[in-house]
Amino acid sequence: MNTKYIFITGGVVSSLGKGIISASLGKLLQARGFKVTIQKYDPYINIDPGTLNPYEHGECYVTADGMETDLDLGHYERFTGIHTTRDNSVTTGRIYKAVIDRERRGDYLGKTIQVVPHITDEIKRRMLRKDVEGEQLDFVITEVGGTIGDIESAPFMEAIRQLRWQLGRDVVCIHLTYVPYIRAAEELKTKPTQHSVKELQGMGIQPDIVVLRTECHLDDALRMKVASFCNVDLECVIQSEDLPSIYDVPVNMQKQGLDAAILRKIGIPVGETPAMASWHAFLEKQKNATREVHVALVGKYDLQDAYKSIRESLNLAGIYNDVKAKIHFINSEGITPENVEERLSGMAGLVICPGFGQRGIEGKILAAAYARAHDVPCFGICLGMQMMVVEFARNVLGLSGANSAEIDPETPHNVIDMMEEQKKITQMGGTMRPGAYPCRLRPDSRASQAYSGVEDVRERHRHRYEFNNRYRKDYEGAGMQCVGVNPDADLVEIVEIPRLRWYIGTQFHPEYSSTVLHPHPLFMSFIKACIEYGTAEA
Ligand code: GLN
Repeated sequence: MNTKYIFITGGVVSSLGKGIISASLGKLLQARGFKVTIQKYDPYINIDPGTLNPYEHGECYVTADGMETDLDLGHYERFTGIHTTRDNSVTTGRIYKAVIDRERRGDYLGKTIQVVPHITDEIKRRMLRKDVEGEQLDFVITEVGGTIGDIESAPFMEAIRQLRWQLGRDVVCIHLTYVPYIRAAEELKTKPTQHSVKELQGMGIQPDIVVLRTECHLDDALRMKVASFCNVDLECVIQSEDLPSIYDVPVNMQKQGLDAAILRKIGIPVGETPAMASWHAFLEKQKNATREVHVALVGKYDLQDAYKSIRESLNLAGIYNDVKAKIHFINSEGITPENVEERLSGMAGLVICPGFGQRGIEGKILAAAYARAHDVPCFGICLGMQMMVVEFARNVLGLSGANSAEIDPETPHNVIDMMEEQKKITQMGGTMRPGAYPCRLRPDSRASQAYSGVEDVRERHRHRYEFNNRYRKDYEGAGMQCVGVNPDADLVEIVEIPRLRWYIGTQFHPEYSSTVLHPHPLFMSFIKACIEYGTAEA
């Protein structure tokens, strides 16, 4: 079968969970045996979200091939287990850059370069994944960021309109809107949806399917109203009610026949509804995992989305360990020597978060010291690992003023230093060491046990600084072991203190490769340690 293209746009308001719907649909099509990928088109001008403040766009997700991307790619990977790549995350900035570079090379032979057709052609080429070699896909799901009516997403809409015209039934358009409940009138309102669909139609796109986000159940009469106002079949008006967990969404979509409706539109026989046994087994576990384990997330961004993949990794590892990981965000900026005890006591484990720059650093160091001194399970990720290393230098090795060169370039003990190849880089965007690299584990280390004894793993990175190997002997002599090392570059990837319960720091980001069906082994092992410690304390 030739590849089919599904486009998902959003209307009325943002934050409706388009990414979750896209990921859920990917899951449902996969369950029917189709080969699927999901891509995100973002209308902003940044080339990638790598330089964006997490307050603006939440976490920056990193693909195995080293692209800094939108956090929705994390949902796509967690739901479907697919590996996304740099082709799965495209911004207006990247589109324009490609066109402008081509113009400068003289490829357009004197033509006037315009939004239509040059920008839209570039968008279409990428939406169809023309540059991706050797890929055989049944479905490409494309989620467009932002809400309909945004000036900046107009070229994406125009590209979708053209593709629809060119490819006919091989294209399906889904529009996600919101049905608000007006409490004073005790009524659910479809007007915003009607307007939103009109706006889409005004751009020449007739949605095939409308998904309604709602906090209350919508009855058939309401769905009928939307169907008739929006020119869609009743079976193509799907509701997406608030559910206890985002992982319930695929099942809810399947129950209402979202995937079946798509197949019918395209003209593929619908066949039996897939059982999705392992997904249901996971949901069952989730339902039963009610005992809480309290984990502190020590970071500086007090925003759900800023550490999305870490939160989800903890959540998933909790479920597979039959507990509910109750995450307590602790702002590292507010941690002082006087209050660290009070802030962190009662926690069964600590995660020290990744990050950049000075703000909140000393709080992370205090948290690492607290965990080490009280033998509380502690997981440092990237900057978190680096702060474990700095803490150990200052308080165990007696290297006063030790620091990361990122935080204090003048430090007398740069136990974390800039990587050699980073020293000549002057541009900020897209110049970190990103993506998957190998790591060799020391047999019998706790980290190696977590990975069930395998010797070599590959994990994703995003950093400029590294453990300074000049200090390696001192650390190992004093009890902090470098148990994971990149075999090619000799870069320290994992440190641990074996005499403690669970004290591990990773230079890489394991959170990017947890999925619903395969929770990450380090998070699994960490949560297990938290449960044991929490239970022993209680
Ligand atoms: N800022 C640190 C570095 O560049 C850590 C980065 C991170 O936590 N992702 O090495």
